[in-house]
Amino acid sequence: PDTVRLLSSSQVITSVVNVVKELMENSLDAGASSIDIKLENFGLDRTEVRDNGCGIKAVDAPVMAVRHFTSKICSHEDLGHLETYGFRGEALGSICAVAEVAVTTKTEEDDISTQYTLDFTGNIVSQRPSHLGQGTSVNVMKLFKNLPVRRQYYSSTKKCKEELKKVQDLLMAYAIIKPELRLMLVHNKVVVWQKPRVADNRSALVATLGPSAVTNLLPCHQEQPEIVLDSFLPKPGADLLSTSSSTPDKTFIFINNRPVQQKEILKLLRQHYSAQYSDDAARHRYPVLMLKITVSPSSVDVNLTPDKTQVLLDNKEAVLTAVEALLVSLYGFRPG
Ligand code: ADP
Ligand code: MG
Repeated sequence: PDTVRLLSSSQVITSVVNVVKELMENSLDAGASSIDIKLENFGLDRTEVRDNGCGIKAVDAPVMAVRHFTSKICSHEDLGHLETYGFRGEALGSICAVAEVAVTTKTEEDDISTQYTLDFTGNIVSQRPSHLGQGTSVNVMKLFKNLPVRRQYYSSTKKCKEELKKVQDLLMAYAIIKPELRLMLVHNKVVVWQKPRVADNRSALVATLGPSAVTNLLPCHQEQPEIVLDSFLPKPGADLLSTSSSTPDKTFIFINNRPVQQKEILKLLRQHYSAQYSDDAARHRYPVLMLKITVSPSSVDVNLTPDKTQVLLDNKEAVLTAVEALLVSLYGFRPG
């Protein structure tokens, strides 16, 4: 059973970015307005995610990392109107199987915080009083200590740098979609990136990407009965070269507030923007933009991949058509 647990966990938790994503989503689900992410040795030695959310009740603590325990859904029907990022009760338990985990937490009712040390199976092995304010801090140490090949793979300088960039890109996505969220990323005690609480998406874009990237963007809102598009798209005729890149890492797409990398939507966006470039070298670039798609929760299946970066849409064609219509209305032509 230990081998089975290790294997299935290693499929849920594949990298440092994954750990950060799962822990951040738990913090957001807990209503946090402030999240601090601290990495040591690119997260391989330690990843700490600390929030000011609701905390974990003492009665829930023994089961928090038990496989398939979740406080977020009670019935199958709940899956149809999911408003939390998590719902599978898989992350914390999986992290326990591939690292050493300690959780410190305090709810509003608690007088002081408690630090729980968890074992391989997610059971509490010890607990002691601690001195944290309200919220939760999850400490993940010695990631992939029992998966030496994977640990080795992520230990190369090149890989480490790539992963740190991915963590930063992920944080940027949440920073943009959650303007009211304060975020800070620290690596080896150095602040790598941070974003203050701001009022709206535009300010969040400015805080995240810098003012010059945002002067090129135009806010667009388009509403259909089932599909709402809120976006900041490059102004027609704007200098796209200076604010685009060869990878889609600054092309921020959200479906129901989840950062996603939906291939078909990316393709559609690129077709439209590349058609505006006369320069051939620029044709394969992705523009900096934000596209927020809101559909009924019952029409999204986020279970396609464990990290939920690809989702299945019931009304995919309708969504693609709506995005296309928005692009045509803004740029006035249909490529191809
Ligand atoms: P899921 O998010 O799918 O419910 P997880 O394994 O990620 O599953 O977390 C298990 C449970 O632990 C959550 O349902 C929640 O009750 C609790 N939990 C985890 N992290 C936090 C946090 N930062 N703040 C409050 N509760 C948390
Ligand atoms: Mg979760």
